[in-house]
Amino acid sequence: MSIYEELGVRPLINANATLTRLGGSLMPPEVMAAMEEASRHWVDLEDLQYRIGEELARLTHNEAAYVATGAAAGIALAVSACVTRDDPKWREQLPDTTGMKNEVIVYKTHRNGYDFAARMVGVRMVDVGTSAGATASELEAALSDKTACILWFQGVMTGQGEPSLAETIAIADAHGIPVLVDAAAQLPPAENLWRFTQMGATAAIFSGGKDLCGPQTTGLIVGRKWLIEMIPPLGSPNAGLARPMKVGKEEMAGLLAAVRRYLRIPYEERVARDERVVEDWRTALAAIPGVTVTRSWPSEAGQPMPRAQVRINATIFGFDASEVARRLWDGDPRIAVAVADDSLFLNPMTVTDQEAIIVTQRLARILNPLSHSALQ
Ligand SMILES: *Cc1c(COP(=O)(O)O)cnc(C)c1O
Repeated sequence: MSIYEELGVRPLINANATLTRLGGSLMPPEVMAAMEEASRHWVDLEDLQYRIGEELARLTHNEAAYVATGAAAGIALAVSACVTRDDPKWREQLPDTTGMKNEVIVYKTHRNGYDFAARMVGVRMVDVGTSAGATASELEAALSDKTACILWFQGVMTGQGEPSLAETIAIADAHGIPVLVDAAAQLPPAENLWRFTQMGATAAIFSGGKDLCGPQTTGLIVGRKWLIEMIPPLGSPNAGLARPMKVGKEEMAGLLAAVRRYLRIPYEERVARDERVVEDWRTALAAIPGVTVTRSWPSEAGQPMPRAQVRINATIFGFDASEVARRLWDGDPRIAVAVADDSLFLNPMTVTDQEAIIVTQRLARILNPLSHSALQ
């Protein structure tokens, strides 16, 4: 009996995305093996953190790297380093940032739930522009001698006329201000592990527990040595702001194994497999009256990966896309999908071939006109 069965928690087919609330990712055997091996010995944790950082930096073509307990923790740590710099007195004073550069500049269009990770450091978020967009001069005007850093959320949320990341970095550089890139879900492609920092970002922060398939409780900070060297005193095992976000030796070893594995995966093969799954969904479901299936690109976080968009004509069915998603979730096996407006989005990245077939069968049953009355 599995632990989940024993506890009465239903495992599910994840056709949505590498979402934390669905378990983040599934760890491949080599990641589990590295964690298991790391679990067998006592070790100097700071020493291990330092050496793993060096190795991750080398693998990702960065000056330095640090393993955090998630991308959100990585944001908290990187922002803290920008605020306290290398001052032990200031580290001690957090989250009271009185006297420090304690403003984090962020485009209004980028504001999301994850900015809590920055706010918990004790900083003030300074919005640039409106929810429609921002201009370079609005960015310039927001910068001051209180600016700790600019926090850029990489994704699909850039607003109208907004400076690009490269333009933002150029403006920040002219003022000597660090730029942190929240790139939590920006994999694939693997090249993003060095792309943002090679563009000039001070640091880029990735989730270890999403597409990297490392432990769910890991995050990876990569970037400039001067910044990353300031992070260890803030984090576990030291009694700094991030002591409550402790990273275990097993997680560090697991993330290293995950990154090594990730860099060996050929993107073309992977995307070809996912295109095939999307095409299978499309051909199997497009024949159902009231259903339109299209290939959607890029993925929800902007990754260069396809999904199937399944549009449900609620007038024909008498129920809408959310209702279909609810039935998938309530059925057996439980299936998670994304919903937006009148559509379901099916993600091939997080399903096996076998699971993709189950998703098709379940959808065909829910959407089969003959079964409407039975289901309603
Ligand atoms: C997932 C995500 C995070 C948080 O990452 P964790 O590793 O779960 O802490 C932060 N920012 C964005 C944009 C994300 O997608």
